[in-house]
Amino acid sequence: MSQKGRPYLAIPGPSVIPERVLASMHRPSPDIYKGELHDITASLIPDLQTVAQTESKVAIYIANGHGAWEAAIANTLNPGDHVLTLATGRFAFGWAEIAEKLGVKITVLDFGKSAGIDIEKVEEALEKDTAKQFKAILVAHTDTSTSIRTDLKELRLCIDKIAHPAMIFADCIASLGTDCFKMDEWGIDLMISACQKGLMTPPGLSFVWYNTRAQQARSKKENVSMYWDWEPRSNVKRFYQYFSGTAPTHHIYGLRTALDMLVKEQNIADVWARHKNLSQAIWAAFDCWSSPGHIQMNVKDKQLRSHAVTAASIKSGGAKKLQDWCERNSDLTLGIGLGMAEQEDPKIHDFFRIGHMGHINATMILGVLSTIDVALKALNIPHGQNAIDSATHTLAKTYKI
Ligand SMILES: *Cc1c(COP(=O)(O)O)cnc(C)c1O
Repeated sequence: MSQKGRPYLAIPGPSVIPERVLASMHRPSPDIYKGELHDITASLIPDLQTVAQTESKVAIYIANGHGAWEAAIANTLNPGDHVLTLATGRFAFGWAEIAEKLGVKITVLDFGKSAGIDIEKVEEALEKDTAKQFKAILVAHTDTSTSIRTDLKELRLCIDKIAHPAMIFADCIASLGTDCFKMDEWGIDLMISACQKGLMTPPGLSFVWYNTRAQQARSKKENVSMYWDWEPRSNVKRFYQYFSGTAPTHHIYGLRTALDMLVKEQNIADVWARHKNLSQAIWAAFDCWSSPGHIQMNVKDKQLRSHAVTAASIKSGGAKKLQDWCERNSDLTLGIGLGMAEQEDPKIHDFFRIGHMGHINATMILGVLSTIDVALKALNIPHGQNAIDSATHTLAKTYKI
């Protein structure tokens, strides 16, 4: 534990938890059989819909993101069903693996570790599927390992153009509450998220939003395991049905406060705009640092960059040196490279990530960027100059502090 100021975990989840969220969880156990916990739980639903810009139903699970992955598949697909997975990094593979264990047949279109989806390839794969076997397309809105963001609206237009009936299942665990996302307008049939990233609450809750098409798939299923079934959880007659058992008492208070901050005290569009502005400051700094060629952002095309996380590399193990320096000297923890090389391969030490989802502001991001700038100097890692100046100029144009 640091004696020298507040430590800062700038990894892509769990994110910084607001003091107010923590404080609202610090209380004696509430009664789960009556009283305010029931009202507060019910009050979460419309705000969870607002965050996702949807009128779809939402089921809440006491689980991390992997639980929501499983819930999505368990409610909609049968063993032997086919899905198409669009991989822009590690995370689509994670979801596909869970589906595979449930007997679903997976076809993966792998777009590598630093490119967006190739919509023509997606179109080709769907057109080849003349028997219309693909029931769903699994895709991460933001892949947290590569920091690539997928244009889900474009994906919907593509599917509609060729009149393929596949549903879109989007993983917004990294992006929700950070990047613009409009479930209904974009025609997303099912979306999953978890509370520990943009939703600023300690890990432990995850969510599945599903529209009427996804519900039709649920209705056709003969069996859904009792715990994962979204029907009782989202059509509650008795309070215990929300969670299929004991409620996550303190998380309910924490999430209530986080949602107050995200959609009651702010407009969600302003939250997206703040993250966009802060992301642009980060990119401006990298543009300067990267000029001698030792440091690189993973995603070249700005349109494909997430506003929640930035993946980058520094040659010759420089990323690991940077992380170690920042942690040791400034209590700043940067994210490790994930899925960019095998864990045993020394190349993994070339990769790092900055998490910038959730409860962050310019003061914090400038702290992260400046600390990195100091570390690059202290470590003699070749880097271009004026990164902080460039970041502050970018913020001065757009950001209201
Ligand atoms: C964090 C993350 C997950 C995994 O969530 P867990 O809570 O660790 O299970 C899945 N998908 C994406 C896009 C993520 O960012």
